[in-house]
Amino acid sequence: MSVQDPQKLAESLIQRDQEFLWHPYSNALVPSPVYPVERAEGAKITLVDGRVLVDGMASWWSVIHGYNHPELNQALKTQIDKVSHVMFGGLTHQPAVDLAETLVNMTPTGLTRVFFSDSGSVAVEVAIKMALQYWQSQGKKSKHKLMSLRRGYHGDTFAAMSVCDPETGMHHIFSEILAKQVFTDSPSVKFNETFDESHLIDFKETLVENRDQLAAVILEPIVQGTGGMNFYSPEFLKRVKQLCEEHNVLLIADEIATGFGRTGKLFACEYADITPDILCLGKSLTAGYMTLAATLCTNEIAEKICTGDVPVFMHGPTFMANPLACSVALKSCQLLQQQNWSTQVAHIHHIMIQELTPAKFIKGVSDVRSLGAIGVVELENPVTLHDVQDWFVQAGIWVRPFGKLVYIMPPLVISENQLRFLCHQLLTVVERICTSQQ
Ligand SMILES: *Cc1c(COP(=O)(O)O)cnc(C)c1O
Repeated sequence: MSVQDPQKLAESLIQRDQEFLWHPYSNALVPSPVYPVERAEGAKITLVDGRVLVDGMASWWSVIHGYNHPELNQALKTQIDKVSHVMFGGLTHQPAVDLAETLVNMTPTGLTRVFFSDSGSVAVEVAIKMALQYWQSQGKKSKHKLMSLRRGYHGDTFAAMSVCDPETGMHHIFSEILAKQVFTDSPSVKFNETFDESHLIDFKETLVENRDQLAAVILEPIVQGTGGMNFYSPEFLKRVKQLCEEHNVLLIADEIATGFGRTGKLFACEYADITPDILCLGKSLTAGYMTLAATLCTNEIAEKICTGDVPVFMHGPTFMANPLACSVALKSCQLLQQQNWSTQVAHIHHIMIQELTPAKFIKGVSDVRSLGAIGVVELENPVTLHDVQDWFVQAGIWVRPFGKLVYIMPPLVISENQLRFLCHQLLTVVERICTSQQ
């Protein structure tokens, strides 16, 4: 294509996008606005039309070290000159081996084996399959159901959908096909509140009642993300783990959003000092560079599966352990250590508290909260994304609210000035939204 006026190029991209593409959770015939991106660096996204946005989303939790990071770029360039991909059946390579060892060392003690896959939803499918095969291999075929928390989100593939919140998930559309799982109340005890056993009544009753059919409980530890940005008590999680053990039900921790420092711990399970039987990782695993996910399990799970009637684990994606993805993930793990992620997260948290707290006084805001490098302004009424998305862009920030939630989880490398700007502009847009809702 010839060199074009940026404005014309932007218009042409938008027009052809609307003609040929389908965006996430969208109506292809009544398209919502989209903004063509030219490039991005650190916490800045530059649009084709020349506008620059400070990024509040880290591209759905993933871009922890910022865009266009020289060392991450270099890791990919080095690997691409060796081998971009080989099948993982019968072959192996250093990026996969190094990354697996690194993940075993950095995740909670006791998770000893790594199964790589392509995306978060698939990592959840793999985790569910592991849990089912674990009981099958011991002849306990009745234990084939999953129990999950209301307001949970675990992905968009079929088994993952079946454990998402039954109301906000896609259950009503696919009710004929989705496996019928067991649901229990979303934890009502907030992160900073004092836990007592009354908070666990529904969980405990549901678990005990269904224990003979339950293969596993699946949950997002500490932060229920997409289902409502609910930050809940570590004590709740701790007791869930104990109850699962007592009643012979496995625990799957879905840390696809919470993993790699975002909540203020490297993994959210550390808040409760627990090791789940199975752990799912994705999103920020490759710092947002490539699609890659991992499912980790304990020795116990691997041993039972691999000594059963069918002594192999029945899964094997074509692009399993892709060397490019593994090499950039490995570099991202090294950067986390070198750049002192916990200081980065604490600093972001501190500034978010300062800058977002005044939103409490805006009429129409029901709550403001922050955990680690996540900031949430909850409104009384849901926003219409279609109408308000452009207000954020006009304000020079990339924030994509859903429902009543206006939330940010910026790249950990965001500068203090950028973060203050992001929060300040977010508040002005929130005011505009709240005024328009009255
Ligand atoms: C995003 C997400 C998934 C799904 O990951 P994809 O890569 O989008 O398939 C699953 N669980 C949680 C907690 C997530 O945040």
